[in-house]
Amino acid sequence: MTSPPLTHASVPDTVHLPPELHIGDAPADPAADTAQLLDLAGALRREAPRVLGFPGNLAFDFSDLAPALSVLINNVGDPTSRDASDVHTKAHEQAVVRFLAQTAGADPDDIYGYVTTGGTEGILLGLATARRHLPHAHVYASDQAHYSVAKAADLLGLTLVTLPSNDDGTLDPESLKVASFFHRRVRAYGGRGPGAIVVATIGTTMRGAYDDVTELRKWAGSAGDVYVHADAASGGPIAAHAPSAPRWGFAHGADSVSISGHKIIGAPVPCGVVLIRKNLVAAPTIASEYTNASARTLGCSRSGLAALFLWSALRRLGHTGLRAHILRCLETAQYAVDQLTRAGARPTRTTDSLTVCIDRPAEWVVRKWHLACEGDTAHLITVGHVTRTAIDELCRDLRTP
Ligand SMILES: *Cc1c(COP(=O)(O)O)cnc(C)c1O
Repeated sequence: MTSPPLTHASVPDTVHLPPELHIGDAPADPAADTAQLLDLAGALRREAPRVLGFPGNLAFDFSDLAPALSVLINNVGDPTSRDASDVHTKAHEQAVVRFLAQTAGADPDDIYGYVTTGGTEGILLGLATARRHLPHAHVYASDQAHYSVAKAADLLGLTLVTLPSNDDGTLDPESLKVASFFHRRVRAYGGRGPGAIVVATIGTTMRGAYDDVTELRKWAGSAGDVYVHADAASGGPIAAHAPSAPRWGFAHGADSVSISGHKIIGAPVPCGVVLIRKNLVAAPTIASEYTNASARTLGCSRSGLAALFLWSALRRLGHTGLRAHILRCLETAQYAVDQLTRAGARPTRTTDSLTVCIDRPAEWVVRKWHLACEGDTAHLITVGHVTRTAIDELCRDLRTP
C-alpha cells in the first residue's frame, strides 16, 4: 500500500491570543512580565508529576547552568570543524555524539554525527543520505512509524510504502519482503534492483515496540542494496540497555540512527542527535568563507546550549548510570502493569517497553494524568519522573466510578 501524499488539511489558522500577551507599540514592564513568566514556569513544573502519557523525561534541573543563558552559543556547521566566531561548545557536542554512538553499538571513530533540533531532523538527514546512495529506492516503514517519516519522504520526493504491523506494534517482515521483491520486479535496473530504504522504528509511538533491524535488513534485500535508518527517537537508549537486547543499532545493521534528546534522556529544550556511518557521508568542504566552517548539517547555526544540556545529562550518568536509569524505568513499567491489572484496567505492554496501554478511561482521568489516546486505547510511559506514587493514585482514580 502506497500512502497518499500529504495534503493541506483544513486546520484553522486562527490564534486565540489573550490580549495581555499581545506585543504592541509601547514597551511592556519587564518586571511584571518576568513575574508572569515565572508563575507560568512554576505551574508547568508543578504539573510535571502528573504528565504520564508522553515520552519526555521531566526529572531534570539545569538551573545551575542559568549563566549560560546570557551568551549566544552557536555551533555553526559541523561539530568537528573550526568556525570563525569561536563561541561554541563543539567539543562537548562531540563528546555527546561519541557517547551515543557507543550506546548505539558503534565505534565512535566510524560515526559522523551532531546535535540536531530533534528526532525529526535526524530522520530527514538519514533519508537524504540514503537517497544519495539509492536514488531509485522506495522508503519502507510500518503503519506505526512516526509521521515525521512521511514528512521527510515527502520533502525528499521519495515514495513511502507503508507496511502493516503485527499486534505487538512491530513491522511485519513478511510484508517488507513482498513489497521490496515487487519493486524489483517492476524496476530491475540492470539486475541490481532499485534497492530499499527501510525505516525501523525503535520504540513506536503508541506501544513502544522495537523493530528488528537485522531481520528487516535481510528481508528488504530482495529489492537490491539496502539502507536502514533506525528512528530511535524515544526508544534507542532504552533498547541499548533492555534485558531482551533488541537488535536496533549499528552493530545490528543500521546505517544511521536518530535519537531525541528531550525524551528518555531529558532536556529543557527539544533537541536530538543524528548518527551516520562515516563512510556514507559526503566529505567535508568549507561551506562559506564567512563562517569558515564545513557543514554537512541541515542547519547552519545550531544550538550550542542543547549540546551543553545533553553533555551535562550524560556526564552525570555515564554508561553505567544510564543503564541503571533505564532498568529503574523498566521496573516502574512492570509495577504499573501489576497495579493496573489489579485496578481492572487490562494493561498491555510489549517486551521491554516503557509504554503501558490501557482501555481509554473517563475523560477527566485522561486530562488529569495527561494520558495519550488513540481510539479506545490510552497509554502511559514510565520515563524518569513517573513515580510509583503517581501510578497508585492513577489506579485509585480508575477505580472511582
Ligand atoms: C518523538 C518521535 C519522533 C519525532 O522526534 P522529535 O524529537 O519530536 O522531532 C520521531 N519518531 C519517533 C518514534 C518518536 O517517538
